[in-house]
Amino acid sequence: MIPPGETIGILGGGQLGRMLAMAAAQLGYRCHVFAPEAESVAAEVCAAHTRAAWHDQAALSRFAADCAVVTYEFENVPVAPLAALGAVPLLPNARALEVAQDRLNEKEFVTGLGGIAAPFMPVDTAEDLADAMAEIGTPGILKTRREGYDGKGQWRIMAEHEADGIVLGDQALIYEGFVHFTAEFSVILCRGADGTIAFWDSAENVHEGGILARSTVPAGSAVLEQVPAARDLAAKVADALDYVGVLTLEFFATADGPVFNEMAPRVHNSGHWTIEGALTSQFENHIRAICGLPLGDTRLAATRVEMRNLIGEAAEDWAALLSDPANHLHLYGKAAARPGRKMGHVTRLTI
Ligand code: AMP
Repeated sequence: MIPPGETIGILGGGQLGRMLAMAAAQLGYRCHVFAPEAESVAAEVCAAHTRAAWHDQAALSRFAADCAVVTYEFENVPVAPLAALGAVPLLPNARALEVAQDRLNEKEFVTGLGGIAAPFMPVDTAEDLADAMAEIGTPGILKTRREGYDGKGQWRIMAEHEADGIVLGDQALIYEGFVHFTAEFSVILCRGADGTIAFWDSAENVHEGGILARSTVPAGSAVLEQVPAARDLAAKVADALDYVGVLTLEFFATADGPVFNEMAPRVHNSGHWTIEGALTSQFENHIRAICGLPLGDTRLAATRVEMRNLIGEAAEDWAALLSDPANHLHLYGKAAARPGRKMGHVTRLTI
């Protein structure tokens, strides 16, 4: 057990790290952020900040010397240099990072445990893409295996001739069949150090332009009937990885049951509603889990909860949003409101 007063290291300096650090502070922990960028909205609320490259092992080892445990808010942290953390525990473990940072690995891992995914094939060359389209059919989606997020690194291919204009470059890719879904949802769980698993209610998620726009709880009936099977799969994934902390799996609700899309070995945007909408948030339970503390109650604190992302200039409406007393406003403190950038979110509870 890591008692309050100790320091938690967080790899990654974005809003997820910021909200983790705020939950850790409530429990009396200090946080130390490690991130390469000049702007770190997490570092602004942390006791210490190391700005260094992911591959800087000397900096990683100095950082580890200040921490009782290290976690991450960003799944694309290169795994090999993390050996420099030495004996300081990394939770969730490096295996979870390795599986989740490559779309091919995660799909093979999850389907290996009995999950259903859209048909997929790895693509490295134009010939592979032609083979994949012939085998799986169109429409389909070509995605980078690594580092894609919020719809970046994805090309929708409605018909084979559309593939002609795509420059493949030297990135490893995956081609997936297009899923006709009735709704999208996520399963977010927290697995404690003793293997106990707690689930939050599954939010129904609406994406716009590949970016999460809204998460609503409770989800509609098309989602609710698929949640038990999706939870079983998520628990199998967590157990197989000997996972500690918050884990997210995203699904499509289809006529054939839940189709796995992707996993994130971390707290997730579709769980931000839990800050006010659940008795214990995803951020607090993640901190509890990695510190070996008992998990808090994940049940709903309202009859209905809606979380809306404030993307780009939408965050400029903060004054109007605050004029509705039912709104809980979260702004991440980012300087530039670029289009597509997550600047904050607003959560509305119906009691
Ligand atoms: P991803 O980055 O894989 O989560 O994709 C972002 C969004 O694109 C998803 O939430 C879906 O709305 C859509 N999408 C991704 N993959 C597929 C697919 N195979 N079929 C249909 N829609 C997809």
